[in-house]
Amino acid sequence: MIFDIDIIRSFYKSLPGRIDGIRDLLGRPLTLTEKILFVHLADYSGLKGLRRKTDYAEFRPDRIAMQDATAQMALLQFMVTGKDQSAVPASVHCDHLITGKLGADADLKSALGINREVYDFLSSVCSKYNIGFWDPGAGIIHQVVLENYAFPGGMMIGTDSHTPTAGGLGMIAPGVGGADAVDVMTGMAWELKLPGIIGVKLTGRLNGWTSAKDVILKLTGMLTVKGGTGSVIEYFGDGAESLSCTGKATICNMGAETGATCSVFGFDEPMSNYLNSTGRGEVAELAEQNRKNLTGDPEVYAYPEKYFDQVFEIDLSALEPHINGPFTPDRAIPISQMKEEAARNGWPLKISSGLIGSCTNSSYEDISRASSVFENALSRKLSVRSEFIVIPGSERVRTISEEAGFLEVFRKAGARIFANACGPCIGQWDRGGNESRGANSIIHSFNRNFAGRADGNPDTHAFVASPEIVAALSVAGNLMFNPLTDMVLSSERELIRLPEPSGPSLPQHQFNSEISGYKPPPDDRANIEIKITPGSQRLQLLKPFREFDEKEFHKMPLLIKVKGKCTTDHISQAGFWLKYRGHLENISDNYMTGAVNWFNEKVNSVLNVLSGKYGTVPDVARTYRDSGLSQIVVGEENFGEGSSREHAAMEPRFFNVRVILVKSFARIHETNLKKQGVLTLTFVNNGDYYKIREDDWFDIDGLEELVPGSKLKLTLNHSDETVEYIEAGHSYNENQITWFKAGSALNIIKNKTVT
Ligand code: SF4
Repeated sequence: MIFDIDIIRSFYKSLPGRIDGIRDLLGRPLTLTEKILFVHLADYSGLKGLRRKTDYAEFRPDRIAMQDATAQMALLQFMVTGKDQSAVPASVHCDHLITGKLGADADLKSALGINREVYDFLSSVCSKYNIGFWDPGAGIIHQVVLENYAFPGGMMIGTDSHTPTAGGLGMIAPGVGGADAVDVMTGMAWELKLPGIIGVKLTGRLNGWTSAKDVILKLTGMLTVKGGTGSVIEYFGDGAESLSCTGKATICNMGAETGATCSVFGFDEPMSNYLNSTGRGEVAELAEQNRKNLTGDPEVYAYPEKYFDQVFEIDLSALEPHINGPFTPDRAIPISQMKEEAARNGWPLKISSGLIGSCTNSSYEDISRASSVFENALSRKLSVRSEFIVIPGSERVRTISEEAGFLEVFRKAGARIFANACGPCIGQWDRGGNESRGANSIIHSFNRNFAGRADGNPDTHAFVASPEIVAALSVAGNLMFNPLTDMVLSSERELIRLPEPSGPSLPQHQFNSEISGYKPPPDDRANIEIKITPGSQRLQLLKPFREFDEKEFHKMPLLIKVKGKCTTDHISQAGFWLKYRGHLENISDNYMTGAVNWFNEKVNSVLNVLSGKYGTVPDVARTYRDSGLSQIVVGEENFGEGSSREHAAMEPRFFNVRVILVKSFARIHETNLKKQGVLTLTFVNNGDYYKIREDDWFDIDGLEELVPGSKLKLTLNHSDETVEYIEAGHSYNENQITWFKAGSALNIIKNKTVT
């Protein structure tokens, strides 16, 4: 058994008493989110006064999951702390570094060769520090966690922004940066500003072409990519109970696209069925005995406006399939409006590729329903007009889908089956022909569709939909096709209406109980050597960052004033650069290369004030650093939205970018920057963004006296010798100020370990 049944038994044993105690203390009914958060508090003494979205609290998560791209840096940081093992159960999943090209077997073989030293490093670190290791090909982190580790009422953190997938099994599961994971692995509590809670009541039943994915596609449109920031989304209502467990997981997964801390559903029968089906009958039984503690109190759901900060309602019976995009996941388009939208915006209509799978939508239910679309099409002499790719989420799902004949249906239609890994979802897609392809449309069932994310081509218009809608539009080969109303022409020149998709949510018999690709840590770990090839271009041991020195915050040039959207993909691109995730110096060469410079509207072209010439962002940043200068980066709204990758926070620190000043931050990125000792500031007046000139020099005073809630004065020294002052706010608490002063959060842990 690879999950921690003893920990789970003891968790459920003490759960009723703890929740009753919390309810008595607060004197009111509790949401599910509060129950889970509060039973995981490191210290109950301040519970009564805790204010949502205002006060920080410390938590003790039950476990940690890390994917290979982020685990490298997280574990390199953990090594610096001098600890001898992870303080909580943890696992590493090799899923991000496998490029999809020819098909599962060939691509996996190629990845094993190319990434050998990284896999050897991760495997040896896991063995050394008592961490479970999942081989490449075993599956995508969130699917593997759902199948093996997640349990209702638990709390985990993961170094990936789609960790919230485990909310489909009733877990509070935020995505975090590697430095947060290191805190927890060293035995420290995990700090989070107590989130707000958004209640989403689901009524009715899904039907026809609509699936669980459409719930989150619609909600993302309602909330936008910022609307969930700082909140947990809690689902309830009879509609919620009607959704399969994996459907719930899809909704929680893509909740990350609203900026939400995470999402969660209460324990119910579909979760119990899923636990049983994946061989965790005892967990299902224990959760069943605790049912009322694993959902919100009845008063909360009867009067949701009293207990949630915001309430939304979605009627599943009336919900239409949605297609979101292009270029942003919150552009939600009901399928009946796509013809008009596509024509009005001049989007390429031919669908060049359809892709299903990823951690968002690769359950047995997803694959069975999408394959039914193809089966229906083939039996009616329809061919699939777009290239089609299937990415199973795990080896268990792949095996059972193969046994059920679903994958064979896809193959018959000409589809390729990629490895059980992220692949095209994170730019690991050797698509070929991008130079000549130009503007084109793809449709996929992943969660993100930022420009260039899937294939590196900024002109690829990526649309997000459910697997069954992706399958239907791939059959028609056209973005305007609506399977609810339109027909497709068969090879016999007959107009055919595609029947509605169908498929079970779970296999008739249990998933294969044999877990392949898992390597448990050995009992005797004393003599295990961590493998890093000397002179490696992929892995580099870390050196601690320097402590705070106020002098460094004077005479700082502007590195870049970013115009518009700046996601972690703009700050530190994935794709090609994934291979350097364990080598800070090498990966820093991608710093901000995707961001648009406000002054010349160009990407990766900024003024070097020392030479008066333009250069790439990394080159100019390096020149400033090597000249002994600190630097400042300026940005707009929701800066750093997207993934949890902390490289986006370590790269600026590596280049001596000491200040990021923006209109607003995305939560994970702001915390990541704080942990690396970068000063995160927000404009008090957003209009001051326009006062900043390309060749300004900045001074910041008063940092020695930085306290929570204080304001800072920034001096802009213009080249015409005029001076302007602007005010900046910050969200540092006392603890975070100590990180800043120490140079990084890691420096504090290291010092504690040494003393
Ligand atoms: S969102 Fe994509 S890249 Fe991220 S874990 Fe899921 S499949 Fe992998």
